[in-house]
Amino acid sequence: MTVVVQKPANHRDTLGGVVRLRAFAIFCVIFLFFTFDAIAIAHELLTFDGPLKDQFTAQSQSSLQAWNPDDVMSASDHPQPRGRAVRVTAAAGGGFVTNTDVVAAEWPKVESLGLWLHRTAAEAKEQPTVELELRLLEADRKAYFWRRIEIAHVGWQKLLLPLDWFVWSDGRIPRWDKVTNIGFRLRDEGSFTIDTLWTEPSVMPRTEFTSTELIARVAFPKPLFRSPEEKSSGTSSLRTLETRDVQLLTNATSLELERLAAHCGLIAKQVRDDLPFLAAPTSSPQLIVFEESAQYRRFISRHARQLKVLVHVPDTPGFTFQGVSSSFWDADLGTLRPVFAHEFLHGYLSHTTRFPCHGEWLHEGLATYFQLKFHPQANLDQLVRDGLSSPKKHAPINELCNGQHITLTQYWQAGTLCQMLLSEPRYRSELATLFQRLEAAGSTDLGPHLEPVWKTDWETLTADWRAFCERKFAKK
Ligand SMILES: [Zn+2]
Repeated sequence: MTVVVQKPANHRDTLGGVVRLRAFAIFCVIFLFFTFDAIAIAHELLTFDGPLKDQFTAQSQSSLQAWNPDDVMSASDHPQPRGRAVRVTAAAGGGFVTNTDVVAAEWPKVESLGLWLHRTAAEAKEQPTVELELRLLEADRKAYFWRRIEIAHVGWQKLLLPLDWFVWSDGRIPRWDKVTNIGFRLRDEGSFTIDTLWTEPSVMPRTEFTSTELIARVAFPKPLFRSPEEKSSGTSSLRTLETRDVQLLTNATSLELERLAAHCGLIAKQVRDDLPFLAAPTSSPQLIVFEESAQYRRFISRHARQLKVLVHVPDTPGFTFQGVSSSFWDADLGTLRPVFAHEFLHGYLSHTTRFPCHGEWLHEGLATYFQLKFHPQANLDQLVRDGLSSPKKHAPINELCNGQHITLTQYWQAGTLCQMLLSEPRYRSELATLFQRLEAAGSTDLGPHLEPVWKTDWETLTADWRAFCERKFAKK
């Protein structure tokens, strides 16, 4: 959640308080001094002093000005606006990015990013609300964390943005230890002024995955706020189980946690056997199984609100977003429901590759292929033969593999293509190289890699895929 704190009216008193604390500490034992100092000082990243062009690069149709707002406050709780800020005026899509080495922060040890935002009454009158994205980018700028900010105020406003609720870029999952630059991108035409960016330290080091504790609070908001008596009386229905491969959370009373965890373990082992070059996961992926489908849908909406993104709640019984997988209980399908395996696979692949799950061919193809290995579908042969029978019943492979979202009716196609890439030695032997290249490109668009990786083209790949399917799924 974005915590927006209005600038306090008594900021002089606040600053005075900090100064007095420090003065007091100097005369006290040294360890006390260090304790107070650590609490009082956040790490400043940007203060906008010095020539702007040394610090930033403006995007096209964007202008940056050093600016001294008239209503600058002379003091506040630390850090504070310095009296020299940067004013950004840009078209939609414009903004700026910090230059190399301007920002130095140990992002895995940061709790929140703070900044001061200012708008004049005239700017607010012209554009009542302006949306912008704050981006924390890796050096190649193909992967970044982002957070939507809505500006609708007049004067100075302090924002504290918890890094737990930043969103991954689509092309490649970003990593906090690789973030080197800060960018601001306007979503609407407009102007705003920013000053003094700072970081506040975190107690625990972070990864790109939100902790299970925080996710559980969004998934099951009520049980956590029950009194200890209520919990001990057994009314709390939340159960969890963590293994090396999965973290299960459920309020579904009939779900057999150990059995599902063991099943996920077998699936993970199969993925590691087939894709031995994948990175070892730094944490196990979260799979949440809700008792009811309505709870599952509400969780997706709540999670999206927490991240300030618009997510279309899907009609499908499973969903994976930011590496968190969720689904719901169905008594007829039981503990080993195929969709649990499917979503677990998305979570596991998010933790072992740099590809976020946004419904493109590689994620869906691999999830479908491994799901079917553990949950075979009786009519699959017929379905594939039927799909191949007419060009109207399948997508051209170059369209299927362009890195964009594919439809449910194309899953069999992505699944059989992945099956071929994993089985045919000629393709399988270069998969590690392909994954490396896709990660570096920040996209699973296959086109640019066919020639360099396999010395092939769309035509040959399509012919190979068709021949593979005709052989594998022949009428028996
Ligand atoms: Zn899927």
